[in-house]
Amino acid sequence: MPIEKTLVILKPDAVARGLVGEITARFERAGLRIVAMKMLRATPEQIERFYPSSEEWFRSAGSKLLKAYQELGIDPRKRLGTDDPVEVGHKIKENLVKYMTSGPIVVMVLKGNRAVEVVRKLVGPTAPHSAPPGTIRGDYSVDSPDLAAEEGRVVYNLVHASDSLAEAEREIKFWFREEEIVA
Ligand code: UDP
Ligand code: MG
Repeated sequence: MPIEKTLVILKPDAVARGLVGEITARFERAGLRIVAMKMLRATPEQIERFYPSSEEWFRSAGSKLLKAYQELGIDPRKRLGTDDPVEVGHKIKENLVKYMTSGPIVVMVLKGNRAVEVVRKLVGPTAPHSAPPGTIRGDYSVDSPDLAAEEGRVVYNLVHASDSLAEAEREIKFWFREEEIVA
């Protein structure tokens, strides 16, 4: 069945900038339906558990940042004290907890044809400075990994979206009880 559910989080910067309506409208405009939605303030423990702590996740996030640093001509050993992808991944997660708990967030479940892939397409790639126009991250932010590194934080990129069907199922269960999702 190509009809899927996926999890989206409007991160603290999206809420603080008053972009909840505009960003949500983009998903609705594309034909996705909101089947659950709430605003909350996440605790550090919640964010710590929400993002995976597998070596695979650390390596993937770390490699992404190392690739961005390479493109931007930044020496990761000078900036981060290491060029090991897993260690870099751990540092990202620490700063991600700070970011995601810095203000209220909006968590929602979107449903539709190939929702996981479609939402990732609408959101765009991780670093807003290189996200194409037309994507949420490309249209609403100019943040980049080098600026973020200078300020000792992760990139502020407005939105979280599940990156696979399996992750979507886990992430939806993490934030919502079954009876909170409309049929
Ligand atoms: N992150 C970052 N730099 C990176 C990788 C990740 O700032 O090189 C932050 C960013 O806020 C991102 C989050 O950590 O949204 C989760 O990382 P992931 O690789 O899952 O990116 P996403 O799926 O959000 O595009
Ligand atoms: Mg991700």
